[in-house]
Amino acid sequence: MNILVINCGSSSLKYQLINSESEEVLAKGLCERIGIEGSAIVHQPKDGEKIKSEVDMPNHTAAVKYVVEKLTDPQVGVIKSLDEIDAVGHRIVHGGEKFATSVVLNDEVLEAIVQCNDLAPLHNPANLIGINSCREIMPNVPMVGVFDTAFHQTMPKKAYLYGLPLSYYEDYKVRRYGFHGTSHDFVSKRAAQILGKDIKELKIIVCHLGNGASVSAVKYGESVDTSMGLTPLEGLIMGTRSGDLDPAIITFIAEKEGIGAEQVIDICNKKSGVLGLSGGISSDFRDLADAVAKGSDEAKTALETYAYRVGKYIGAYAAAMNGVDAIVFTAGIGENNAEVRAMVGEYIGFLGANIDSEKNKIRGEEVILSNEDAKVTVMVIPTNEELAIARETVRLTGV
Ligand code: ADP
Repeated sequence: MNILVINCGSSSLKYQLINSESEEVLAKGLCERIGIEGSAIVHQPKDGEKIKSEVDMPNHTAAVKYVVEKLTDPQVGVIKSLDEIDAVGHRIVHGGEKFATSVVLNDEVLEAIVQCNDLAPLHNPANLIGINSCREIMPNVPMVGVFDTAFHQTMPKKAYLYGLPLSYYEDYKVRRYGFHGTSHDFVSKRAAQILGKDIKELKIIVCHLGNGASVSAVKYGESVDTSMGLTPLEGLIMGTRSGDLDPAIITFIAEKEGIGAEQVIDICNKKSGVLGLSGGISSDFRDLADAVAKGSDEAKTALETYAYRVGKYIGAYAAAMNGVDAIVFTAGIGENNAEVRAMVGEYIGFLGANIDSEKNKIRGEEVILSNEDAKVTVMVIPTNEELAIARETVRLTGV
């Protein structure tokens, strides 16, 4: 069976066609600048080169049409017709408290997703547009929604409530939700498999370190805490996001700079993190590593501050679970950046975790970084959110 996985943003649409039996990616690609001048689709068939076509995509429905056109193209396509797409899995950012698991999408469910829109005003409407466009073009193909927040719905109240008047939670659902759930779920399950143990016996800390970054505490297979909150701004220092802040900073900066609170939040989202800390060098950790090699103190401080925050969260989550059996690094930085892993390693020795510097040289593959006699296993597990969405789609549609 072939599952089309769609991750739709406000002006972009990423896709992968995955064969559910072999779990092979048959083709993948990206539609960019949807609704903006200069839109293009970049399509890559299995074992083939990336092909970029500049095409007019005034809206997401046009983008989905081009995706189907590429997938069925006689030259660069991988299927003969639309009939060979058996189901579609959609990434959805916010499921609020309504969705603790993935769901088959129908009119009623879509209405419930619309009700979560005010919790993720930038992301959810875009996800919904993608879903509706796919339904328009493939009306008879079953579709599933997989939520970034769902895995964390097992968090207990003491972990998800903020120290605010309770009425804000009751009236507006202001609470911590957490994100990257598909990745935390996938990676923690894989960690248990690699360790040859039942996940119901394990306490695992997953560090998903990508452009966006979050840590989660997965106790006996359930998320009991995670570093992102009502929005993905809380927690770790990220590529461009500040992570945890004293909320009083918002109005303090607004007053000093003569700007509105909303603009300060925008700066916290887009101009902060390692980009801001490095004095604007880059949000990309490869550029920061280059800058450090050339002697930049700002880039060095940015990386140190980043790693320190990750280390602190690991310590906090070991306390939250009253112990930890495995610490897992994943996503772009977690999988590839040995320097950052080594810097985080400086803070976790007290737990009985260590990182072997030779094993730490390996990039982008599953590897156990700790020594055999370590009390806590430290590992790298590449995440695969698209595969996780495809598996959920198969599980729910039974195709
Ligand atoms: P996103 O959240 O956008 O999916 P990724 O998981 O792709 O982000 O992570 C992007 C980050 O991973 C960037 O900072 C990038 O520098 C880092 N990264 C990716 N590949 C490598 C690599 N080979 N070596 C070092 N860092 C890498």
